[in-house]
Amino acid sequence: MDKSRTLKSFTDSSANVYNGKSKFELINCPRNGKNCKTHLLEINRNYSDSDYFYQNKEYQESIEALNAAFSKTFELNEDICSNCAKLFRCTIVQSLQNIHLELHKLSTGFFKKNDYKSSYILADSTLNSLIKNID
Ligand SMILES: [Zn+2]
Repeated sequence: MDKSRTLKSFTDSSANVYNGKSKFELINCPRNGKNCKTHLLEINRNYSDSDYFYQNKEYQESIEALNAAFSKTFELNEDICSNCAKLFRCTIVQSLQNIHLELHKLSTGFFKKNDYKSSYILADSTLNSLIKNID
């Protein structure tokens, strides 16, 4: 893989994942968000923290914020909003997968840097534990 291509895919993926808007919206909530709105606000806040850290290449903090958002989904009333919770979790896992992929490139690829290694290990273990709890 040549240098310019690596840089390009790096820029593209960050633009796709984080567009600066509220990541989570209620599309199929049976209660129109009455039950899950407060959680949604907190989850979105964790999510934009994660975005901020991500833009600053503070990957560990970014991963921890996603992890916090994920934990918060378990505070939802699952009887009413199990689909909302599931949707939030899937989206969080997708974002973490993107960070994981990027760190994999950064720690093993052309621009190999050892300081990304520990972030990659954290992304890897966090991703594994999140996937186990996804439904
Ligand atoms: Zn809901």
